Amino acid sequence: MAQTNGKEPIIEIKDVVKSFPLGNSEVTILKGISFAVKPGEFLSIVGPSGNGKSTLLNMVTGIDRPSSGEIMVTGKPVHKMSEDQLAGWRGQNLGIIFQFFQMLPALSLLQNVILPMDLAGKYSSRERRERAMHLLEIVGLADQANKLPSMVSGGQQQRAAIARALANDPPIIIADEPTGNLDSRNSQDIFELFNQVVGQGKTMLMVTHDKELAKRVPRVVEILDGRITRDEYVGRPNWAGY
Ligand code: ADP
Ligand code: MG
Repeated sequence: MAQTNGKEPIIEIKDVVKSFPLGNSEVTILKGISFAVKPGEFLSIVGPSGNGKSTLLNMVTGIDRPSSGEIMVTGKPVHKMSEDQLAGWRGQNLGIIFQFFQMLPALSLLQNVILPMDLAGKYSSRERRERAMHLLEIVGLADQANKLPSMVSGGQQQRAAIARALANDPPIIIADEPTGNLDSRNSQDIFELFNQVVGQGKTMLMVTHDKELAKRVPRVVEILDGRITRDEYVGRPNWAGY
């Protein structure tokens, strides 16, 4: 179970149940999930497809709400916040990375990275541009900055998406199958970037199917049939075989 590093949790999931309507009845996808994440942890959530991993991440980001239970993130009750409150809070506190990159196709990589800063109004416009270039340098894309997403590879798009997730310097990075659409070489690069991000003190919550990556993440939480079946700090989970 959870080790402590002496800090208060930055993410607390308490007795979360999530059901969806199914015909005249309903199906319960998450049946009472509880765990806490301390600042600076790198946690991977694993489990077979359809077990509610994305649903759980969507409740941490406030995109979806639990049927019951509580989700506290950066001390805020995300399950109770209004859409307006969520939008402002999310922009400052979360960087979100998706399997299919979700870069805006009409904007260059640079403009994609600047956009969250424009929305949050966090830096001056000159700083936004400099900061975006710096982030693209960190992810190895300085020479691709003015290209459209369609002009670069999937691995490069995902690296740009990481730069975008870091744009507002959020304390938490959330990634849902970030290497699900990449080959092993590119997955490796993405994982190295995540390690750097965690090395800077950020908290990383990642859903992954990639067994090789999950083995190297310091903490693994496994969800099976709606419940947590494993929560270990070993970095080498004993895989159930999916
Ligand atoms: P995972 O990410 O582990 O593959 P998901 O969280 O995407 O799983 O989905 C878990 C289950 O919940 C799936 O069976 C999916 O069909 C169902 N589900 C997810 N979102 C909805 C929704 N909005 N309405 C109905 N069912 C949903
Ligand atoms: Mg999913």
